Parts: sequence; structure tokens; C-alpha cells
Amino acid sequence: MEFGFNEEQLMIQDVARRIAREKIAPSAEHHDRTGEFPLENIRVLGENGLMGIEVPTEYGGAGMDPVSYVLAMVEVAAADAAHSTIMSVNNSLFCNGILTHGTEAQKQKYVRAIAEGSEIGAFALTEPQSGSDATAMRCRAVKQADGSFVVNGKKSWITSGPVAKYIVLFAMTDPDKGSRGITAFLIDTAREGFGRGKTEPKLGIRASATCEIEFNDYVVQPDEVLGQEGEGFKIAMGVLDTGRIGIASQAVGIARAAYEATIAYVKERKAFGAPIGTFQMTQAKIADMKCKLDASLLLTLRAAWLKGQGRKFSAEAAMAKLTASESAMWIAHQAVQIHGGMGYSKEMPVERYFRDAKITEIYEGTSEIQRLVIARSETGLR
Ligand SMILES: Cc1cc2nc3c(=O)[nH]c(=O)nc-3n(C[C@H](O)[C@H](O)[C@H](O)COP(=O)(O)OP(=O)(O)OC[C@H]3O[C@@H](n4cnc5c(N)ncnc54)[C@H](O)[C@@H]3O)c2cc1C
Repeated sequence: MEFGFNEEQLMIQDVARRIAREKIAPSAEHHDRTGEFPLENIRVLGENGLMGIEVPTEYGGAGMDPVSYVLAMVEVAAADAAHSTIMSVNNSLFCNGILTHGTEAQKQKYVRAIAEGSEIGAFALTEPQSGSDATAMRCRAVKQADGSFVVNGKKSWITSGPVAKYIVLFAMTDPDKGSRGITAFLIDTAREGFGRGKTEPKLGIRASATCEIEFNDYVVQPDEVLGQEGEGFKIAMGVLDTGRIGIASQAVGIARAAYEATIAYVKERKAFGAPIGTFQMTQAKIADMKCKLDASLLLTLRAAWLKGQGRKFSAEAAMAKLTASESAMWIAHQAVQIHGGMGYSKEMPVERYFRDAKITEIYEGTSEIQRLVIARSETGLR
């Protein structure tokens, strides 16, 4: 068993840490307050290989392994969770699905620009009436005699929707077949028939723009189908397994930032004539925060390592996401409490960590859905 990282992994961690500290952290408060999309920083991340970490170099990526992805995501998320949301969608949800299921021409056309960070990618599964139960989707793609499809319908909560150039879309092509009637498509947002709704005002990750998107007689050509017709649900679930490693990493990054802020504060803040870190009740909280933080990171690295080995990692990714997201929420909660009144103030970043942590329990499968995935894997029952 080996707990160290190799030179490449340490190198990308270092690059991500440097950009996170020099570019992202100084503007995190601004982006949170204004909700402004951090396009300039995303370009810098892309130029340094962080928008397509696992994408082979021939498609414009860094050609690194899933463990490298975890290490880089943690650094970026610790500086600002919204940046890491945009990064995770580009890396896991957009590039990963096309690399696994796309044709050579699709990889060249869609992956390169996104992996280089010159364009932004998005992933559109959720609809106003269907989230956890994706098979209840109503967005419809009807096949034409020439093999093209005409798409009509709405998708909601689309991360990077307001700025994305390309989107991996899931639409129903054969409603009678349920989950086997869903197909994945590659969408160009500059094309006629594509529209965007208002950007959602959110509790946290405010600079990661999220909106509803709409299709009105949007025409998809046969070479813009991703994978086989009817394979969309399988593609979406596979992509989300990878995505969960990214969200677990994001949660670890937010939790680490909250933890580090707390360690600094308990040494400096005094009450009853002593630093608050000398009180046993504070010490107990710190010990529990540290254990949850390390357990989350280890579970996340295990899932990433399994993926890198080409082994099954679906349940492990769900365990990592469940543990890391609930730990991040708990750790951020303790951080606010330990900061007392200052934890409630916008002058300190811990209230942002608290708001940002919450999303990790919701998107890419809620905690309840992760528990279903884990229990089904353990029991074999559905
Ligand atoms: C900021 C943000 C960004 C997002 N980005 C994207 C994106 O880029 N692309 C995209 O496609 N989607 C995106 N989503 C959507 C997100 O993945 C869904 O919100 C999430 O999967 C939950 O779906 P829902 O909101 O419809 O909740 P619902 O499915 O309606 O769930 C409501 C509640 O019921 C519980 N529940 C549902 N089914 C079960 C069950 N079987 N057993 C127990 N409990 C259950 C849920 O856990 C939850 O607590 C985003 C959401 C947010 C908030």
C-alpha cells in the first residue's frame, strides 16, 4: 500500500495551488458577492491544463490520472467553490462522457476547446419536474427520415448554461422504453432553436452561473449523437460516477478551507483570558473536524485510484461523495460556531464556506440517492 503521490501528481497539485492562491482566492469574495462569472480565471486554469486534467494531450488536455484531478480540485475548491464547480463540469461531466463514448471526430471537435478552457462545457440532464428520477424527463428528440433529430423541451439548473458553447444533452427518443429510450446529444448553443432562461440566484457557489435552457425545434445531425441511440441513461449514470469524485474533491476543498480558518482563529481569539483553542469543547470539535476531513479525502482518493486502475468505482465514488459532502457541511457548521459572531459576518470567509458546502449534498445525486447507490451495491437489492 502506498500513501504518497508521484511527481506528476505533486506537480499538478502545485500548479493548482499557485493559481488558487494568486488568482482565485483574492477575487473569491468579489465573485461571491457579485455572482460575476470568473471567465478570466477559467482561461488561466485552462491554459494550465486544469480544465481537462484527464483528457489526453492529443485532445488538448493534461493527460493525467484521476488522483491528479482530485488533488487539483481540492486546491481550487479551497480557494473558491464556484470556480471548482465550473472546473468539475468541464472535466468530469463534459469531457469524460465524450472521451468514453464519442467518435474520434467528436473528441477533436468538442473536447479540445473545453479542455483548453477557451470554451465552456455543460451537462443537461435535470428538468423542472425531473431531478433524482431522470427517467421522468420530458425533453423530446424526434428522429427524422434523414437520421437527424428535432429537439423540444426544457432543462433546468444547468451549471455554466449561461456561458456554455457546447452542451451534452439527454433527451427522450423513445418514451415507451423508459431509461432505454434516452439518447445523448452534443449541442452547439450558437445554433438556432437553442435558448436560455434567467440565471438562478443561489445560496452559494454564486459565481458558477446556472440557468434553465430551452430547445425549440433544435435540429441535431446524426454525427452529433453521443454513443448509440437509447444509450443516454447509461452514459449519464457513468458520467455521474466520475462527477461524484469531482464533487467529493470539491467538498474536501471547502472543508479544508473552513478547517484551516478555524485552526488560525482558535489560536488568536481569546475568551476568559485564554485562547479559545485551549477549551476542551473546542478541542473536541477540532479533533472531529480533522477526522472527518481526512476520512473524506482518503475515500475520495480511493475512488479516484480505482478509476485510474480501470476498476469498478461506482459505489466507492458514492461513498466518497456522501461522506465528503456531509462532512463539509458539518465542518463548515462547526467553523461558523467556533468563529462566534464573526462566523456570521461577511467579513470572514467561513459564512461563504457554510453556504457553498450545502450544494455538495444536492447536485450530482443528493445524499439520499448516494445512500441508495451504496446500499444497492452492498445488498444487490433494488
Ligand atoms: C446549483 C445547482 C447546479 C446544478 N447543476 C446541474 C447541471 O449542471 N446539470 C444538471 O443536469 N443538473 C444540475 N443540477 C440539478 C441537480 O442535480 C438536482 O437538483 C438534483 O439531482 C436533485 O434533483 P431535484 O432538485 O429535482 O430534487 P428531487 O429529485 O425532486 O428531490 C427532492 C428530495 O427528495 C429526495 N428523493 C428523491 N428521490 C428519492 C428516493 N428515491 N429516495 C429518497 N429520497 C429521495 C431527494 O434526495 C431530495 O431530498 C444542479 C442543481 C443545483 C442546485
